[in-house]
Amino acid sequence: MNIKIKSLEIHFYGANNLDSIPQLSNFSEQERLGIKAVAQVLPFRTNNYILEQLIDWNNIPEDPMFRLTFPHPEMLDSKDYNHIIQLMTENVPKAVLKEAANKIRQQLNPHPAGQKKYNVPTLNGKPIPGIQHKYRETVLIFPAAGQTCHAYCTFCFRWPQFVGLEDLKFATRESGMFQQYLQQHQEVRDVLLTGGDPMTMKARQLSLYIEPLLEPKFDHIQTIRIGTKSISFWPYRYVTDEDADNTLRLFEKIVQRGKHLAIMAHYEHWQELDTPVATEAIRRIRSTGAQIRTQAPIVRHINDSAETWAKMWQMQVSLGCIPYYIFVERQTGAKAYFEIPLVRVFDIYREAIQQVSGLARTARGPLMSALPGKVAIDGVAEVAGEKVFVLSFLQGREPDWCKRSFFASFNPDATWLNNLKPAFGEDKFFYESQLEEILTRQQLF
Ligand SMILES: *Cc1c(COP(=O)(O)O)cnc(C)c1O
Ligand code: SF4
Repeated sequence: MNIKIKSLEIHFYGANNLDSIPQLSNFSEQERLGIKAVAQVLPFRTNNYILEQLIDWNNIPEDPMFRLTFPHPEMLDSKDYNHIIQLMTENVPKAVLKEAANKIRQQLNPHPAGQKKYNVPTLNGKPIPGIQHKYRETVLIFPAAGQTCHAYCTFCFRWPQFVGLEDLKFATRESGMFQQYLQQHQEVRDVLLTGGDPMTMKARQLSLYIEPLLEPKFDHIQTIRIGTKSISFWPYRYVTDEDADNTLRLFEKIVQRGKHLAIMAHYEHWQELDTPVATEAIRRIRSTGAQIRTQAPIVRHINDSAETWAKMWQMQVSLGCIPYYIFVERQTGAKAYFEIPLVRVFDIYREAIQQVSGLARTARGPLMSALPGKVAIDGVAEVAGEKVFVLSFLQGREPDWCKRSFFASFNPDATWLNNLKPAFGEDKFFYESQLEEILTRQQLF
C-alpha cells in the first residue's frame, strides 16, 4: 500500500504568534491571555500539523492533543498564575516579567533524579557534557543540536535544556568526545540518542553522530537507539520533508552494517497514530529494517484511562510497532496538574493490559525513572497482614538490584518513590545503603 501524501512545510506557533493561529479565532481575549501567561513560565510550541490534523477542535479544552501541547491556567499555582497575569496586564518591562517567570520556574524542580549531579561521566578526568551513563549497558547521548522538539509537551521535564545549537563544527567536536568515551567503555552495548528530540536534526548532522559508530572499533555497540516524538509531532520528517529520503538511507545503512536500529517512539495517545501521514511515516521507517518501540508516561488529563492505552497499544501492534515502557509522570514541571497516584496508575495499566493480546503486553511498567533506577510497580498485595506495593527494579544503578522484589507500605496518595516507606517496619529499602555508597563515590569527580 503506497499512499500519496501531500507535502507540508512546518510552521511553529508559540506565545509570540498565538494570535495568528486560525483555529483559535473564537477564543476570548481572556483565554488567549491565559495561554500566554503560562507560556511565560513553561515552554510552549505547537505546529501546523498538530493544529490541522491532531487536535479535535470540537472537543476543546479536553482534547488530549490540545492538552498535550497548549498551556492552560491550571498548570501553574493560582497565586503564580495571577501574578503573571497582573504583570502582563500592567505591561511591565520584559525583564521584570522574565524575572518573575524565572522565580516560578526554579520551584518546578527542573532536574529530577539527580540528573545533573550524578550521571555525567568523565573523559580523562574531565566531565563530558551531553552524556549520561547510569546503567552499565546503555549510554545516553544528548547532541547539542537536538535539544529542541517539533512541538513541546506541556508535561515535559526536559524544558530547561531547550536551546538550539546548530553549528556543524560543534557537532563534530562533540561527537568526537562521545566516540572517545564509548571506545573506553567496552561494556556499553546500546547508544541512545536523545534530547529534546534528535530527529529535529537534519540527516547530515545526525550522521555525524551515528556514522562513526558503524566502524569496526565500535563493534561492542550492538544497538543504536533514537528517542523521538517526531513520528507523532512531525511525521512529514520521514515522508515528504526535503531530507526524508536521506534520513531513511541513514537508517538503512545502520541496519546493513549489522546493528540494530531501535526507534524509541514517544506516543501519549492513539490520536497520534490516526492520520494517513502518521501511518505512512511508520511504514517507511520500518521498511529500512529499523524497529519501532513505543513508550510514554501516563499523564492526567491526557491519557489517564485504560481504554486509551489499550486502543493505542492495539493500533501500534497492527502498525508493526512494539509497546515498550509505560512511565509514571516525573516529579517536575507542572506536576501538581499532571500527576496521578501510583495506585491509580497501576490500576490503569492492569486494566489496559487485560484488554489486549500477548503481542501488546510487551508494554512494561508502570515505571518510575528515579534516582536509584527504573522501579516498576508490580502490584498491590497483602503480605503478613500489611497492605503493600510490590516493587522491583527493571534497571538499577547496581545491576544486581534488577528483578529483586521489594515492598513499600501501601499509601493511596503516593505519586512517586520518595512518598513511599518500606513495609514491615523496616527503616530502609534493600538498596539504600548501597545507593548512598555509589553516589558518594560518583560525587568525588
Ligand atoms: C531508561 C534509561 C536507559 C535505558 O534503559 P532500558 O531499560 O535499557 O531501556 C538508559 N539510561 C538512562 C539514564 C535511562 O533513564
Ligand atoms: S517531545 Fe519529548 S523532549 Fe520534547 S517536549 Fe515532548 S517529552 Fe519533552
